[in-house]
Amino acid sequence: MLELKHIKKYYYVGDSVTKALDDVSVSFREQEFVAILGPSGSGKTTLLNGVGGLDIYDSGDLVIDGKSTKDFSESDWDAYRNNSVGFIFQSYNVIGHLSILDNVELGMTLSGVPNEEKTQKAREALERVGLGPHINKKPNQLSGGQLQRVAIARAIANNPSILLCDEPTGALDTETSEQIMKLIKELSKERLVVMVTHNPTLANEYADRIINFADGKILNDSNPYTEDESKDNFELKKTKMTFWTALKLSFTNLKTKKARTALTAFASSIGIISIAIVLALSSGFQKQIDKTQGNTLAQFPVTISQVASKQTAPSTDKVKKSNSKQVTAKLSQQEKSTHTNKLNKNYLNYIKKLDPELSKDVTYTYSTGMNLLTKINGKVKTAQFSNTSGSSPTSTMTSAMSSSTGIGGSVYPSTSNDGKNFLKKHYKVISGSMPQNANDVVLIVDRNNDTNINALKNIGMKVKDGQKLDFNKIVGQEFKIVNNNDYYRQLGAGMYAPNTDMDSLYNNSNNTTVKISGILRVKSKSSENILSSGIAYSDKLTQNIIANNKNSDIVKAQKNSDSNVLTGASADDTTKESLVSYLGGSTTPASILIYPNTFKNKDKVLKYLDKYNKGKKASDKVIYTDLAGQVSNLTGGLMDAITYVLVAFAGISLVTSMIMIAIITYTSVLERTKEIGILKALGARKKDITRVFDAETTILGVTSGLLGVIIAWLATFPINIILKNMTDLSNVSQLNPVHAIILVIVSTVLTVIGGHIPARMAAKKDAATALRSE
Ligand code: ADP
Ligand code: MG
Repeated sequence: MLELKHIKKYYYVGDSVTKALDDVSVSFREQEFVAILGPSGSGKTTLLNGVGGLDIYDSGDLVIDGKSTKDFSESDWDAYRNNSVGFIFQSYNVIGHLSILDNVELGMTLSGVPNEEKTQKAREALERVGLGPHINKKPNQLSGGQLQRVAIARAIANNPSILLCDEPTGALDTETSEQIMKLIKELSKERLVVMVTHNPTLANEYADRIINFADGKILNDSNPYTEDESKDNFELKKTKMTFWTALKLSFTNLKTKKARTALTAFASSIGIISIAIVLALSSGFQKQIDKTQGNTLAQFPVTISQVASKQTAPSTDKVKKSNSKQVTAKLSQQEKSTHTNKLNKNYLNYIKKLDPELSKDVTYTYSTGMNLLTKINGKVKTAQFSNTSGSSPTSTMTSAMSSSTGIGGSVYPSTSNDGKNFLKKHYKVISGSMPQNANDVVLIVDRNNDTNINALKNIGMKVKDGQKLDFNKIVGQEFKIVNNNDYYRQLGAGMYAPNTDMDSLYNNSNNTTVKISGILRVKSKSSENILSSGIAYSDKLTQNIIANNKNSDIVKAQKNSDSNVLTGASADDTTKESLVSYLGGSTTPASILIYPNTFKNKDKVLKYLDKYNKGKKASDKVIYTDLAGQVSNLTGGLMDAITYVLVAFAGISLVTSMIMIAIITYTSVLERTKEIGILKALGARKKDITRVFDAETTILGVTSGLLGVIIAWLATFPINIILKNMTDLSNVSQLNPVHAIILVIVSTVLTVIGGHIPARMAAKKDAATALRSE
C-alpha cells in the first residue's frame, strides 16, 4: 500500500546539517498497526510527515498504491492528504474557535462534501470515538483525552485508508492513554495505522509491528514486508474550499474574539474616521465658503461709478506754523480724491470682453427716469419703481439727481438668462413667478415678508405703516411705460410739459407694458441687502427705455438748451448732462456692478480691470471700488490653502490606516500559524489558506469601514455644536452619503490589499513547520 524507497530529508541550519531521514526504505501493508519507536529527535515526526505528504522528501520516492509521487504537484499532495490520510497529533490541534462538530467536519468541508452527508459522517465518527453525549460542547469544555478523541474523529470522519498518529498519548495520563490506544487499535482493523511513540510498553502491547528508529535510520523491523510491484490503482479527488467556507471559518474565528475584533476594527477605523471627518468638514466648509463668498460678493459687487473716489493716503506732512502774511487756496481733501471715470464705449467694450467664467453677472445702472403709468380702480396714475418717499418724476427731474442705483428701485443683472440665475441663487419665489423677460419686474421682500412702504405707495397702493396686502393684489399689476414723444408735449419756445390726458396716454399703442411677475424673498439672512426691498427690474429694461428715448424731441431740445426744458431754470454743463441722462438721452451707465462668484475670481476681475489702466494718463484711468475687499479680507489664495491643508490631513490618515491594517493582519497570521498547519494537514490548498485570511480581512474591512463612517457621522453633531459656538456657523460638518459609501468600499479594498500580502505569506508557510510551532 505504501512504499518508501531510499527517502532522504536533510535540514540545513547555518553550517550544520541534520539528517532527519537518512536513506529510509520501508513498506507498509494495507491493514496493520505499525509503531515506530525511537528517541526524541531521531526523525520520527519527519518520517510521519513525509508519509502523510506534509513535508516533502528531498530524494528517494514514496510509492502510494503503485503510484510514484516523484512528479506530484502541490495540489496532488493536498488532495492526497485530504482523501487518503488522517492525522492525529500529540497536541490534539483542535481548532478552538470552531464547535466540535465543525472541527470534525472541516476536512470534508474542504473537499466539498454535501452538508447533510458531512454532518452525518461527523456524528458517526464522534459516536465511534465515544463523544456522542458531548457533541454540543465547545473544545474548551473538554478534557485532554476527549480533545484527542475529537482529533481522532476528525481524522477518521472521511474514512481515510491511512491514519498517522504522532505520539497520540504523549500528553495523556496512563489510564486515558490505554483508552486511546484501544480506540486506535480498533481503527487499525480497517486501515493502515502508523503510530510514532517513545513509549515501548504501549507499542509492545498494541502494535502488530514495531520499527525501531534512531538518527534517521531504521534499526530493526519486527515484521518486515515487501510490496509486490503492484499496478497503479491510485486515484485522487481534488479539494476546493469555497469563499463562503472561508468566510464562515474567519467569521467564527473573529466571533470567539469579539472584544479583540471590536478593538481591531476600531483601531483600523480611526483612519476612516479622520478621513470622513475631514471630508465632512471640508465639504461643509466649502459649501459655507461658497455661500459666504456668493453672498458677500452679491452684496458688495465690484463697483465702477461715474464719480469715484481715489484711495488717498491721509497726509503725513508735519504741520508747520506759517509766519507769512498770506493765505493759500487749496482743494479740500474730498474734492482732491474725486475722480470722474470715463465710462466710454471703449471701456464698455472692455468690460463686455470680461471672461464670463469670472463673472456671469454684470449690472449696468442708468440715471434715466421712466414715464410710468398704472391703473388703480379704473383710474390712471403716475407711478414709480422707487422706494423714496414722495418723489415724483418732476421733483426728481428738478433735483437732477444721479444715483448709483439708477432712478429708484433695484436693478439686477440681465446678462445671465435675464437675471434668472442671479435671482434664483439668492431669492425664492413666494408668489407668482421669476421674471421671464425684461418687461417683468418683481417685488423683493425680506424674510418677514416686509417691504418698503414707499415702494408700494409709488406704484399706486394706498397703504399705512404695518398694513398687510394680499399677494394677489400685487402680483400681475400692470404698468405702461410711455415714450418721451408721447409723454411730453411742447409748450413752445423750447419748453416742455407732460401731457395731462392720462387715459389717452395710458392707452397709447406705442407704450411698453410691464407687469409684476412675482414676489421674491431672500433665501438667508446673509443675503439680505443684495437688492433693497421694493420693486426690482432688469437692467435690460432701462436699456430699452434709453433706446426708445435717445433721439426723442425733448432730449434733443434739452441738449441744445442752456436751461431746464421743463422748468425753465438755467442749467450749467453738469446739470445739463444730468437732465439729458434723466430723459434717457445718454447711453453712458451711471455705474457698472460686477458680481464675481468667488473671491478667487474677484481677484482675477480686479487684475483685469487694473490692466485697462496700464499706461493711461491719470485722467483717463477708470477707478473701481472693491467693496467686498473692504468688508472682508478673505482671498482666493487663503481659501485654497485651507483646502490643501484639509486634503493633506486626509492623506496622512489614509496612509496611517493602511499601515494599521497590514500590521493587524500580519499579527493575525502569526497567531493562527497552528490553524494554517491543521488546515494544510486536512488537505487545504495554498489558495484556501489565502482565502481564509482574505475573508477575515474582508470582514474586518467592512466592519471598520462601517464603524468609521458611523462614528464620524456621530461626531459631526458635537463638532457642529462646537463650531456653532465658536464661529456662529451652523451645520458646517456634513457627511455626504456618497462619501460614506465610498469610504466603506475604500476601507474594505485597502484592508484586503493590506492583508493580502500577509495572507499570501501565511499560505506559503511550510505545513510541517506550522504544526511544530507552539
Ligand atoms: P522526533 O519526532 O523523532 O523527535 P523530528 O522528526 O521532529 O524528531 O526531528 C528530527 C531532527 O530534525 C531533529 O534533530 C530536529 O531538530 C530536526 N528538524 C526537524 N524539523 C526541522 C526544521 N524545520 N528545521 C531544522 N531542523 C529540523
Ligand atoms: Mg516528534
